[in-house]
Amino acid sequence: MLAGGTWQCENSNMIAADDLKGIPIFDCLVPEERQRMAAKAADVRLQPGEWLIREGEQPYFFILLEGSMELTKEVFGRPQHLTHYKVGEFFGEVPLILGAPAFASVVATLPSRVARFDSQQTFELIQGSEKCGALILQTMMNRLGSVQQFVREFPTARVLMVGTQYDTDCREIRAFLAANRIPYEWVDRDLEPERIPSCTALLHEGPAVVIDRAYCVEAPITVRKVAEALGIRTAPREQHYDVVVAGAGPAGLAAGVYGASEGLKVLVLEKTAAGGQAGTSSRIENYLGFPNGISGEDLSERALKQAGRFGAEIVMTRCIEKLEPIEANKYCVQLDGGDRVSACVVVLATGVDWRRLDAEGVDRLQGRGILYGASRNEAVNVIGKHVFIVGGGNSAGQAAVFFANYAAQVTVLVRGKGLELTMSQYLIEQIAQKKNIHVEPFTEVLRAEGEDHLDALTTRTRVPDQPEMLQTRDAQALFVMIGATASTAWLPKSLQRDANGYICTGRDLTEWTVDREPFPLETSLPGVFCAGDVRHDSIKRVSSGVGEGSMAIAFIHQYLALQNF
Ligand SMILES: Cc1cc2nc3c(=O)[nH]c(=O)nc-3n(C[C@H](O)[C@H](O)[C@H](O)COP(=O)(O)OP(=O)(O)OC[C@H]3O[C@@H](n4cnc5c(N)ncnc54)[C@H](O)[C@@H]3O)c2cc1C
Repeated sequence: MLAGGTWQCENSNMIAADDLKGIPIFDCLVPEERQRMAAKAADVRLQPGEWLIREGEQPYFFILLEGSMELTKEVFGRPQHLTHYKVGEFFGEVPLILGAPAFASVVATLPSRVARFDSQQTFELIQGSEKCGALILQTMMNRLGSVQQFVREFPTARVLMVGTQYDTDCREIRAFLAANRIPYEWVDRDLEPERIPSCTALLHEGPAVVIDRAYCVEAPITVRKVAEALGIRTAPREQHYDVVVAGAGPAGLAAGVYGASEGLKVLVLEKTAAGGQAGTSSRIENYLGFPNGISGEDLSERALKQAGRFGAEIVMTRCIEKLEPIEANKYCVQLDGGDRVSACVVVLATGVDWRRLDAEGVDRLQGRGILYGASRNEAVNVIGKHVFIVGGGNSAGQAAVFFANYAAQVTVLVRGKGLELTMSQYLIEQIAQKKNIHVEPFTEVLRAEGEDHLDALTTRTRVPDQPEMLQTRDAQALFVMIGATASTAWLPKSLQRDANGYICTGRDLTEWTVDREPFPLETSLPGVFCAGDVRHDSIKRVSSGVGEGSMAIAFIHQYLALQNF
């Protein structure tokens, strides 16, 4: 069996023409054709619980020769049973003929044997025999008919949220749900009072969250309570791990995937949502293998599933607050709330936070029209509005292009003379093509105004050789993306950092106490590694974070071998 519980072909047992006798679809064929098709089929054997194919994988055409199989589809993270297959039945033709990935997963419920054909062989089967072709295409039509019913009954969301647009708790929970790709229905308490479910009446004011239309999360509502109600793990299962990874951004998730796939017991701890900064990107266009780009949410969801499938334990909504050596070659990691776990190795992949905008009124109105970063779920809040973005980097550019599809106008405020020095050319070109994006160079925010939420912004424009210009204008949303800072103050003093708090590793270390060279990516604390944006002099990209996360695991194996683990 392959890692993750999927099937393996039995090369020793080839399918014989006789094995196909009595299987309706092969009864359509003359003996010579049956012989030819049998010789081409892969002979797949599975034990109960093993997966024949998983949702999203390349499709195949399957004929069940022995045993029994179940078709399941993941709906909002939970497997939903769709149907059973009996001996003689075939399946997989719908995605294969449509050229789509597998729509659902198939798992063996009894010891089973399956003949598997790839797309070329399946088309040969359809074209080579009129009867066979008709049987396969007719079955496909019937199955497409039942998809209609599935779509009609498909639940649209597991979570219903009630709140107001400027409620900071709501925004945190909505950001958490969106970043974790958990669809939710949103009811604005002020605008749609008739849609508020009766079970929330006990909560009086403030936000309310109802899960599966049945369970009302108790007040005060926190991200962690919502996560727990959804079945997301929020506490470590064990006391000790080979590797504890701090942060589930691209670097941390890569360390999770590579560590777990290579047999290490890995715990990944994440304070907010998997994906980190990348998870908030509306479209990552430069990550290898995605020629049309991929949204940060999509990439994060895939990476999270991959890490989980390999056996990495991922705990969300928990912040690491303390790291300390406890005995030779062991560290203690303390989480918020006091929980502790120990680890042979720690990987710091905590990334960076947004740099704060130092202007009057900004702190007061944060979460009430002013936000750091710009996740896709804000789109609904900017429809038809005038949106301001501060910053001239790629993240600001992506946000401008994305919000321009929803907002009436997007104004990008940059302190420098333009975007050329700070933004990738592909984004500058996309911005130039959007008529409702306006870039204002030499401009900074002086003041944000508003009672409950942002109403107006005062800006100062200082074009060289021209008089300074102050403007106050109506503003309904301000997204701040002016660079990043490393939040590493919680780490031990003995962990070497640069003047800006970024963590030094490998050859950059000037403080090193052990009688061997540090491994690349190893920090001044032996056995503590660092990957991604929080590392001194790292390249701030998704691909480099992923690369460093996976490289860290390679060096960790060497480190563990030295310790005789
Ligand atoms: C809006 C935006 C768009 C971008 N677009 C692109 C792009 O198109 N292409 C590209 O290559 N790069 C892009 N980047 C940069 C890229 O996203 C980052 O370089 C990458 O995410 C860095 O990964 P990381 O894992 O090092 O850190 P992060 O992504 O910052 O992840 C760190 C994680 O650690 C968690 N964490 C922090 N402290 C703790 C703690 N104490 N305990 C537990 N968890 C903690 C955080 O919550 C976070 O989830 C973009 C960045 C942004 C913000």
